[in-house]
Parts: sequence; C-alpha cells; structure tokens
Amino acid sequence: MLGLYLHIPFCSAICNYCNFNRGLYDADLKTRYVEALIAEIGRSRAAVDGPAGPAPADTIYFGGGTPSLLEPEEIGRIVAACRSVFEVPVDAEVTMEANPETVTVGRLAGYRDAGVNRVSFGVQSFREDELRRLSRLHGAARARDALADARRAGFDNVSLDLMMWLPAQSVGDWLESVDAAIGIAPDHVSLYLLEIYPNAPLKDDMARARWSQAPDEDAETMYLAAMERLEAAGLEQYEISNVARSGRRSRHNLKYWTDGDWLGFGCGAHSTRDGVRWKNVSSTDDYVRRIRETEPTGVDVRVLSPEERLGDALFTGLRLNDGVDLRIVGERYGIDVWGRYGSALERFVDAGWLVHEPSRLRLTRKGMLLAHDVMAVFV
Ligand code: SF4
Repeated sequence: MLGLYLHIPFCSAICNYCNFNRGLYDADLKTRYVEALIAEIGRSRAAVDGPAGPAPADTIYFGGGTPSLLEPEEIGRIVAACRSVFEVPVDAEVTMEANPETVTVGRLAGYRDAGVNRVSFGVQSFREDELRRLSRLHGAARARDALADARRAGFDNVSLDLMMWLPAQSVGDWLESVDAAIGIAPDHVSLYLLEIYPNAPLKDDMARARWSQAPDEDAETMYLAAMERLEAAGLEQYEISNVARSGRRSRHNLKYWTDGDWLGFGCGAHSTRDGVRWKNVSSTDDYVRRIRETEPTGVDVRVLSPEERLGDALFTGLRLNDGVDLRIVGERYGIDVWGRYGSALERFVDAGWLVHEPSRLRLTRKGMLLAHDVMAVFV
C-alpha cells in the first residue's frame, strides 16, 4: 500500500542548524497553503485510481516544518481529502510531527479527533543549555509535559526525536537526555546525529562561543550506549537510528526502508511510485501559485533504471536490523544479489560488520556505525 506524506513548511522561528524546507509562519500564506494542499491531493485522483478503484494507502504522515502550527480543523480537512481520494483503512497510521511548545491537551485532543493517531515530538534534548544552543523554543520541562499532554489526550503511540553529537555535548550530557526520554516512556524514539551544514548560523555561534563537537570516538560511544539503554528499557532497535516498543515501529518510515511506494504532497515533497521518482517545487509561494493556476508542481521527474532500483532497495534495506531478504530482492529484480556483490562484501563480513545468512544480509551494530562504507558497494 502507498504511504502519503504531507509537507507543512511553517515554523514559529528558524532553528540555527535547520536545513529543511521551511519558512516563518504566516497566517495568510498558511490558509492558502492548506487549500493548495487539499487541491493537490484531489488532483492526484486521476493519476492514482486504478482499474480496481482508488489506490490503497495505509499511512499518512504530516512532516515539516512544524505541522502542529496547523489548526486541528485544518489537519482534519487534509486527512479527509486523503480519505476521499485514496482507500485508507480504518487502522491506517496517521502521524503528525509536533514541536512541544505548540501543543496543549486541548489541541492534541483536537488532532486526535481529526484522525491523527501517532504524534512525533521534536524534543532534541532534555538539557536546557543544549536546547538554548540549538535555539529551540521549548525547554526540557515543556518537552516532558508535551508527552504527558499527548497521553491525556488519548494517544497511545508517541514518538520523540533526540539529537546527539551536539556542540559542547559530552557523553554524559547525551546520556542524561537518553535517560530522561526513557523516564517519560515514549513508544518510539528516533536518534539523529547533528549535521552542521556549511552556512548554518550554528556554525558561527559555535565559532564565537568556542563550542566544539566531541571526538568521533565519543560519538560512537554515544550511539552504542544509547542503544543499550533504550533496549534495556524495552525500546527495541529496528533501524539504524530508530527504536520502538513492540507494535510501535513507524509504519510510514518503513515504506522508505522496504522498497515501498509513497506520494508526497506540498512544497518540496518527494514521491516514488513504480520506479518513478519526483519532487515538488520547493518554494511555498511558487507551489501555491502553481496549484492555483493548475500548473504541474512536480519537477526533477526521474525514471529509475532497474540498476538504481536494486541499489536503492539494498541501500535502504540494510538500514533495518532485519536487513535485506535476499530471496525477495533477488526475485523482484531477477538477480542473485550475493553472486553479484558477494566479492565486494566479503571483507565486511570478515571484519564483523556484516552478517551473510543463506537468504539474508544484515549489518551488525558495529557495522551500523560504518554503514556508509558498506552501502557504497550498492550505489
Ligand atoms: S522547528 Fe524543525 S523544521 Fe522548524 S526550523 Fe526548527 S528544526 Fe527546522
């Protein structure tokens, strides 16, 4: 089944490290954007309806930006638009990313009524000094309260994001946040390594304040120690940077890692379906204008070669703890995967980074730290 991704590009303030497709909240633009998004979903009907009727889609994901800047009623209308075009089962996973400072119990209850059944909070850290360094708008207490608010609003599927390798962060500081996360019992946690892009304002802040990132060996310790603690707390690792309680893996994100198809709506959203990949225009204004003037929004349309599709399936599949089922991939792409790549992969198996079972290939945890070296074989 398809996954549906809805991009909401608005934020109350721009974080100093952010490299996403986002802009400052503007109430008027937001109203026009929501209408455009609903129109784009409606417009896709002709392309997605098959001989058997509407295409099935079992996940809906609001990402951003800050989707929780939309009103519950607006989220409800977008979910309804998805349901009117796609065949969305009653138990579909509907996720909304939210920033802790934007929610209250009442607002969260409204999102639940609107059809959202999974919330993913951008917490990043439970330390005040780190949140300030990242120019985040919330404090540690609000992050804790947001999760409690979500529970009170009836959510039984709550995720949070944490960022590691922050400026001036020690291993101990990082583990404080990991322990704080465990303390509030989320159902799912995503760990991100801070990447500082060349023009990030954070880079200047770091130079001015003389903050630096911990050495590589410490980043390795941060990752391994976090995984151990999270697993000991019942949050099982299922992907390089994601852990979940039983039954709470992100069904939407699993589509990206299991060679699935998804459609993205909104500015800058990416789509992949039947071996074709495309992206919507990035600019919010341009996107809204194109929808209004019924111009196409997709740019960079690319038909993937069988070679690229195979490479992607192996590259993304290896991110999962279960790894890649060589039989399924082999049948889908008509090749003997090990016969093709085995000689290039042997050294990783010998080094203890990769496990080759008769019909499965998977990274060890040590291999996950060096995943890019292994994955480079496929691309
Ligand atoms: S809230 Fe998220 S999307 Fe918005 S500026 Fe901060 S990091 Fe970027």
